[in-house]
Amino acid sequence: MAGGIAETDVLIAGLGPVGATLGVYLTRAGFRVTICERDRDVYPLPRAAHLDHEVMRLLHMAGGADAVLASSAPLSAYEFRNAAGDLLMGFRPDPLVKETGFPQGSMFHQPTLELALRARLAAEPLADVRLGAQVTGFVDHETHVTVQVKDETGTSEISAGFLIGCDGGGSVVRRTADLPLEDMGFDEPWLVIDSTLKNNVKCLSTIGLQHCDPARPVTSMPMGPGRHRWEFMMLPGETADDVTSDARLAEFVRPFADPDAITIERRAVYRFHAVTAKQWRKGRVVLAGDAAHQMPPFMGQGLCSGVRDAANLGWKLVSVLKGEAGMALLDTYQAERDPHVRAITGLAMFMGRVVCTQNVEEAARRDKEMTSKPEGERMGGGMPSLEGLKTGIFGDHASVGQIAPEPWLKDGRRLDDVIGLTPFLVTREASGVTSFAAGGQVFTLGDLSDPHGAFAAAMGDAPALLVRPDRLVFGAGDTTALVDAWNAYASGRAAA
Ligand SMILES: Cc1cc2nc3c(=O)[nH]c(=O)nc-3n(C[C@H](O)[C@H](O)[C@H](O)COP(=O)(O)OP(=O)(O)OC[C@H]3O[C@@H](n4cnc5c(N)ncnc54)[C@H](O)[C@@H]3O)c2cc1C
Repeated sequence: MAGGIAETDVLIAGLGPVGATLGVYLTRAGFRVTICERDRDVYPLPRAAHLDHEVMRLLHMAGGADAVLASSAPLSAYEFRNAAGDLLMGFRPDPLVKETGFPQGSMFHQPTLELALRARLAAEPLADVRLGAQVTGFVDHETHVTVQVKDETGTSEISAGFLIGCDGGGSVVRRTADLPLEDMGFDEPWLVIDSTLKNNVKCLSTIGLQHCDPARPVTSMPMGPGRHRWEFMMLPGETADDVTSDARLAEFVRPFADPDAITIERRAVYRFHAVTAKQWRKGRVVLAGDAAHQMPPFMGQGLCSGVRDAANLGWKLVSVLKGEAGMALLDTYQAERDPHVRAITGLAMFMGRVVCTQNVEEAARRDKEMTSKPEGERMGGGMPSLEGLKTGIFGDHASVGQIAPEPWLKDGRRLDDVIGLTPFLVTREASGVTSFAAGGQVFTLGDLSDPHGAFAAAMGDAPALLVRPDRLVFGAGDTTALVDAWNAYASGRAAA
């Protein structure tokens, strides 16, 4: 690496939830990480309100889930209703998913999570967090990247093994690397209001509601104890100035709650859009989170997708930095994450189109079509299921590519806490395998506590099940075949 300038293994641009999660994963794995964040405080405007259970588990592995759990509440239902209040479609999230131990949908407050992740990073000796430090450019030298960072003292350079752009929707890293965004065809302006509830009121409703009224589509969401979110679609010709005065906000809220019973904490006008970078990596520069993709919030999955990116990319960077895998392993990052993000974005756009209809005739047609089914059929059991992984997996066992249930150790510790972002193999009988690629850990079913029987159910009749570091099932079947396939995949020699 170049001499005379600061050196680090990985430089992360942006300390949002994705940069912070990735920072914890990498420092926990023993690497020096410098995180440069343009601002000093966490982002002040209203953003994510929903996390799914898989992502809560990934955040638990980064030290962020306890703070979320302590300040969040499960979503009891997510309903789309027309102007007359008839149910168009709805979902009842599972209050406790036995595979992960978290509610299927948690309603939370994004700054609480970001502060918890910052506290976790502050306790990591290998994390160098620089607030008020903006990444302004970089040069990729093939063996390392030189990154320009501007702070109050001027501009300096840091030499890093990799530069990860977690710098959000306007990503300087993405633009400097010349990685264009693909527009997926959604662009609607919305006003978002976050409020706190006065008089010790804990909750206005546990139901997330999409009020699909063509006169003014509205989203109403609980956000955990003592908080509530409303989103109001802007009408043609309205500007941010037209809709953000205190008087207008009170007018907007009045049909749903007494404006005197709440305090408006944050307000913002956003254009909800759907974009994905065509290419997520160029050499030693990689994008993650909103820098790589943005979606409308109707599935509550933007931040969730970014955390999945961090889990997918984190262990691969560790393997490459350790010299255990070639750069080809990093090619699997976009290959695996991009289809998942696109599928969720498609679902979010579908939901958005149901909600965002402002044409009265179109809304009437929508209502007629969607209410033609019996109400019981309009209400789904859980949230729409997310795609399983299609590559980076082995075999066709039913559990492959799905989230693996978390077994616990017999001494009461969570396995995820003990092994961190590494893969693990569980065999029915002792196998003679002691380790495998990417720090793989080996257990027999008898070593583990599986109180709900979820892990045994995922294994079915298979003699062994191998779980990837991002907690998706890599494969289930013959132990030797599984371990061989994993070793080839995790070294970057084979796209499993
Ligand atoms: C109204 C709304 C509702 C949403 N609801 C949900 C939801 O319910 N569930 C969900 O999962 N997601 C939701 N999202 C999306 C979610 O908020 C984002 O996906 C998430 O914040 C992205 O995290 P990130 O870390 O990638 O980027 P960000 O949170 O944007 O963080 C990027 C960071 O990079 C910093 N930065 C920028 N440029 C530079 C630079 N040049 N140098 C250094 N630092 C820089 C910024 O200051 C910022 O701190 C919602 C979004 C909106 C707007």
